[in-house]
Amino acid sequence: MTPPPSKGASAVDADVRERIHLEILKRTGAYIENDHILLPSGHHSAEYIDKTLVTTEPSFTEGIGAVIAKHYAEWPLDVVLSTGPGALLLSHCVARAHPSRPILLYANKTLAAGKRQVVLHAEFHQFIKENTKVLIVEDLVTMGATLRLLITLVEQLGGVVVGIGCLWQRHPKADVSGKPIFSLVKHRFPVYDAGSCPLCKQGIPLREEFAKRRQARKPSMVKEEEKS
Ligand SMILES: [Zn+2]
Repeated sequence: MTPPPSKGASAVDADVRERIHLEILKRTGAYIENDHILLPSGHHSAEYIDKTLVTTEPSFTEGIGAVIAKHYAEWPLDVVLSTGPGALLLSHCVARAHPSRPILLYANKTLAAGKRQVVLHAEFHQFIKENTKVLIVEDLVTMGATLRLLITLVEQLGGVVVGIGCLWQRHPKADVSGKPIFSLVKHRFPVYDAGSCPLCKQGIPLREEFAKRRQARKPSMVKEEEKS
């Protein structure tokens, strides 16, 4: 009998590493599997990733930051750039672990007239000049829309995007303007139309709280009292 073609050592390493990271994400509650979940898109799935919980374990965040930094260790960096609170925590860990000792900048992601936009504080402009080498760090990447905006932002200031590091690339065809992308998890989970969902057919109860977050889980809030 012919043995199956063996995977290269690096492919096995990547598989093992991905499984380890998924197990840690499960422990933090950020990753759910073997369930039946209504997604915000209206599709059903057995799996879910909750972005808010990804960076709740500092030693895990530091570990994945170090892996991303090691991957890009050969490339000299001036700046690590990110957005959002979760990505910012991860990018701090990447910048801290990279041998070039790059500085850390962040842009704010907002919506304007229904279109997403990224805004870099005026104070940060001085750090991205002609040929400044920039690594962009994200936590989760779906189709790359925010990353493309960040790449344009850097290039408009004259900088060069060396690559992108992320924890989880959800779609293999994410469009990142041809830049190299390194992700620790590439696992893509199947989603089903509500009408043809095999989990519905099995009668597994559907969890709706992730799609109907506002009704299901209210954030805690404290307001300053009005002065009388
Ligand atoms: Zn279903």
